[in-house]
Amino acid sequence: MTSSTDSAASMSFAADLLQWYASYKRSLPWRVNQDNAYAVWISEIMLQQTTVNAVIGFYNRWMERFPTLTSLADAPLDDVLKHWAGLGYYARARNLKKAAEEVVRRFDGVLPISVDQLMTLPGIGRYTAGAISSIAFGLEAPIVDANVIRVLCRLFALHGDPKTSSVLQKQLWHIAESSIPTGKARDYNQALMELGALVCQPSAPQCIRCPISRHCEAKRTGDPTVFPEFGVTKKWIEVTHVSCFVELDNRLLIVQRPLEQLWGGLWELPRVAVLSDEPVDLAAKRAVFETVGLIVDCVRPFGSIRHVVTNRKVSLHGCDATWSGEGEPKALACRQFAWVDAAELERYAISSPQLELLAHWRKTRLQPGLQY
Ligand code: SF4
Repeated sequence: MTSSTDSAASMSFAADLLQWYASYKRSLPWRVNQDNAYAVWISEIMLQQTTVNAVIGFYNRWMERFPTLTSLADAPLDDVLKHWAGLGYYARARNLKKAAEEVVRRFDGVLPISVDQLMTLPGIGRYTAGAISSIAFGLEAPIVDANVIRVLCRLFALHGDPKTSSVLQKQLWHIAESSIPTGKARDYNQALMELGALVCQPSAPQCIRCPISRHCEAKRTGDPTVFPEFGVTKKWIEVTHVSCFVELDNRLLIVQRPLEQLWGGLWELPRVAVLSDEPVDLAAKRAVFETVGLIVDCVRPFGSIRHVVTNRKVSLHGCDATWSGEGEPKALACRQFAWVDAAELERYAISSPQLELLAHWRKTRLQPGLQY
């Protein structure tokens, strides 16, 4: 796309795209009142790394518990994490809470309008700032996310790897900004993302029902999936963790992770990464000793689950153990610890993999001898 053709081409495809969006946009809870910048912000943060269908329930429960920015700023962090539990990438929840407190302190509790000011808040980058600024306030601020990258790279057959080429990244932001039709930023930005989500999908673009197919350069090549030209695919690292289930008088030992770590502030069964050649049961003993300073006995592996965190594939093993009651537990590699029964467990913010392992543990107790 050359600068001389910029505006004519943009105006033409943008008009077709807006017309399609008006008829086919999904009805989503955060689209009910898009003047509510707080609601737009929450939905945009939840939608990072998470699918729309998965977000809807979390979003509704969140807005019921924290209906305003001030209610979020005033809430205890534990409560915020509890309402995030299951969505993953918990730094997002901690940043939401921190940013809400900052907005109360620096902006009298009202989210700022400009992209530059929004970007001074924790957890708000250029994309999220552009989304809030354009969707809630109608400013002509561009947004470039994975869906927009895919649509624009195909529409204009743009070469280069969008992850590594700064030239291409600049070009994408420029097109996203210069193609916004005057006064239509709210709908236009959402329409681009909606097209990427519903029609111009990564491995199976539905060009036949695409409203902008007559403008699309990639379609003309015969294989639009060539674009975007992503380079080397992500390298997965395989790791093994173990969590130890220590029971005392029908209560389980759980620990709260340090805030600065992955899953910071969440609760879990004492966990460590298993060293190469280290037997899982010994690693489980070490998990309890390093976390709260207790020596446990009769360690018995009962199964494992697998989950993915960023570029790591994690095998998370579980071990049962008993504790004689000797010694005093201390919060060593954790913020605090607690002994809780099954009913109390429900009140703690616990990550999804740990909940899955807990479910396995309960099953093995109901059916002794069952192994995973
Ligand atoms: S025509 Fe096909 S490749 Fe081009 S934008 Fe539409 S769905 Fe994507």
